[in-house]
This record gives sequence, C-alpha cells and structure tokens, in this order.
Amino acid sequence: KKLQRSIDAELMSAMEKETKRQENNLEMIASENFVSTAVLEAQGSILTNKYAEGYPSKRYYGGCEYVDIVEDLARERLKELFGAEHVNVQPHSGSQANMGVYMTILESNDKVLGMDLAHGGHLTHGHPLNFSGKDYEFISYGVDKETEQIDYEEVRRIAIEHKPKLIVAGASAYPREIDFKKFREIADEISAYLMVDMAHIAGLVAAGLHNNPVPYADFVTSTTHKTLRGPRGGIILCKKEYAKALDRSVFPGMQGGPLMHVIAGKAAAFYEALQPEFKTYMKAVSENASRLAEKLADKGFRIISGGTDNHMILVDVKTSLSVTGKEAEALLDHVGITSNKNMIPFDEEKPFVTSGIRLGTPAITTRGLQLEDMDTIAEIIYETIKYKDDQEKLASLGARVTDLTSKYPLY
Ligand code: PLP
Repeated sequence: KKLQRSIDAELMSAMEKETKRQENNLEMIASENFVSTAVLEAQGSILTNKYAEGYPSKRYYGGCEYVDIVEDLARERLKELFGAEHVNVQPHSGSQANMGVYMTILESNDKVLGMDLAHGGHLTHGHPLNFSGKDYEFISYGVDKETEQIDYEEVRRIAIEHKPKLIVAGASAYPREIDFKKFREIADEISAYLMVDMAHIAGLVAAGLHNNPVPYADFVTSTTHKTLRGPRGGIILCKKEYAKALDRSVFPGMQGGPLMHVIAGKAAAFYEALQPEFKTYMKAVSENASRLAEKLADKGFRIISGGTDNHMILVDVKTSLSVTGKEAEALLDHVGITSNKNMIPFDEEKPFVTSGIRLGTPAITTRGLQLEDMDTIAEIIYETIKYKDDQEKLASLGARVTDLTSKYPLY
C-alpha cells in the first residue's frame, strides 16, 4: 500500500493532454507509431528498478536472475526475427546503436561514407554538430538529381575515390528500397566495413517486405520504435566474429546499466513482430503509403522520386503549392494532422524552413485506417494548403480529421 504513489496533478495534467493529442490527431510522422498495451505494460513495469550492468549470466550486480531471462528473450527473438548471428539489445537509442558500431571498428578521424543528411541521411551519419561528424571524417553520397534515388555507380565512384573504412547505408528520409547487396559489393571492392542503419524500415524487413541487410552487412543497427512498433530504443545485429568487441563497446564502452524495462518492451515487441499478424500490418502500412502517394500526386503534389516503396512519402510542397515545409507542417497541425517539414534533395530552403514534408503511414495504420481513408487524407492535405487563409474551410477540414480519428479509436 505504502508503495502506491500516484502521479502528481501537474504532471498528470500534461500527460492527459498528450493522451488526448494522440487520440484526436492523425499521427503521420514517419518515425512514429503506437505500441501495443503489452509493450506499454512491459516498459512501465518494475523492471525499471533493476541495475544489471553486464550481460545475461555475466552481471556486475546481484539479483539479476530474472532480468537475465528478460534480456535473453529479447536477444533470441531478435535473432530469429532477422536471422542474425549476434545481437545487442542494450543501446538506449538508435543514435547509441550507431555509436556502438563506430566505437567497435573506427578510430578517431577515420573516414566513413554515409548518406548526405540533406538527401535523407541521419544526424549520426556525419552531421557536423553530432558526435559522428566531430569524431570521424564523414564523406557523403546523395541521390541522383533526376531520379531522386540512390545512384549506386556514383556511390561506387565516391567510395573508390575516398576509400572509407566504413560505408553506412540507410536513411531517415528515403522513400525507396535500398539495395544492400549492391552496397556490399561496393564495400568489398575497397575492403570497407558495411553498416546498415535500418531504423526506418526494420518493420518492413521483419515482415519480408524489404530486402534484409543482415546477410550483407557486417553490422545492422536500428531503432525499435518506428515501423518495428516497440519501445523507444536501439539494437545492433552483427556477425559472430564482432560479437565480443561490439558488446564491450556498448558496455562498458558507452553505457552503464541497461534499461531493463525498455528491454522487456523490446522483447514484447519482437514477439509481436514474429506473429503472422505483423506481416499483415506491415503490408497494410506499405499499401497505405503507396495509395496516399498516388492520391497526393493526383492532386498535383510533386512526390520525391515519383512514389514510395516503403512506409514514407516525401512531398515537395514548395513546387506544388508554393508553401514551405515549415508552413505546410503548421497548417496541417492546425487541422489535426501531425507531420514534419523535411529537406528534399537539392533543397534551396534552410533546414528549419525546407521545401518538403515527410509523411508516414505506420501510426495511422496501427490505428486501423484503410486504403479508402488515404483518399480522404490526400484531399484534406491538399485542401488545407490550398485554402490556407479560409478559416471556415480549415475548421471543416479539422472536423473531417475528427471524423477519422473517432472512427478508429486509439487503445
Ligand atoms: N538512424 C536513423 C536512420 C533514424 O532515422 C534515427 C531516428 O530518427 C536514428 C538513427 C536515431 O534514433 P534515436 O532518435 O533513437 O537516437
């Protein structure tokens, strides 16, 4: 009884408002999702109380016999999900997963080839203000100006010219399938390591809807909270030969105690991803994204690369409707659609303004939205931007968003 402390009113009020926001808005940020109640329960559990530095059966603390089971479940399920030889489920985030790999194979100032951030790469792929850009010498490849897709011949040319020690494939804003076999061939030509950061597409890979990087890459990193629909966190998969060095880089190299409650959440999510229903879900995510891209294009929006192979769509709102990404994001927010402004390839606007928005279907598909709802969303997005100064119209569009969110209640 004494242990039953409840959340104070001030904090509870903010949490309740966030709950309402999630319920009442259409969540279209490509990197977000809604976890199951099993994941929520695991992550909100008493496992948060436990220190467990080390790895199962090799801990630096007593009383770890049950959290060992939890971490082993997470590890075994993750291995099965992607066919990996070795995994580490302890990274606190996707950024730390990437740091763990860099620390395993790179020395300060080593050369790394990654995707240009303005073309879809992530901060940890060499942003000058990120540890990656500070500690290592990143060079970058982008997308082709015409196709807006990765030009593998160009990647190869840059790789041969600069001879990086590591090539990083994977992106935060790339709507097309990435050919990991081609990346492996390029890495082999210059004897470089290959790391694939599959944070965005992990769910599609798990469901067999995107080629699996595990057979090709020395290391694969991911977040667990995007398409994979688990708790916020990171994971690393690698070949057996790197297992020891990698585990040492994560602990004690860059982290102390693992977040056992989050690892329990990961185990719950991996279990779900192994079920046949997950494949059905991911297929729906992908079909919803394709339909939305098609319908937005019908409305006259320029879709980066002409479409999507995955869960996300990049829309050039500037060319299409003469608004910036920043303005479009605010307008959509106003009617209850949450998205994010995003640089498009060869963007002339600054990163805080941008010419594009990034849209994703993982969260709305978890909610249950169907193909025909994508037609409605495309219409709402188009009209919101077109009639941006008409308050009455915007109010009616907001009401249409409410109709959709009430039709598919959350939790
Ligand atoms: N890698 C990619 C490709 C991502 O898109 C992200 C997150 O947006 C990360 C890594 C980093 O994940 P986190 O935000 O958990 O550090």
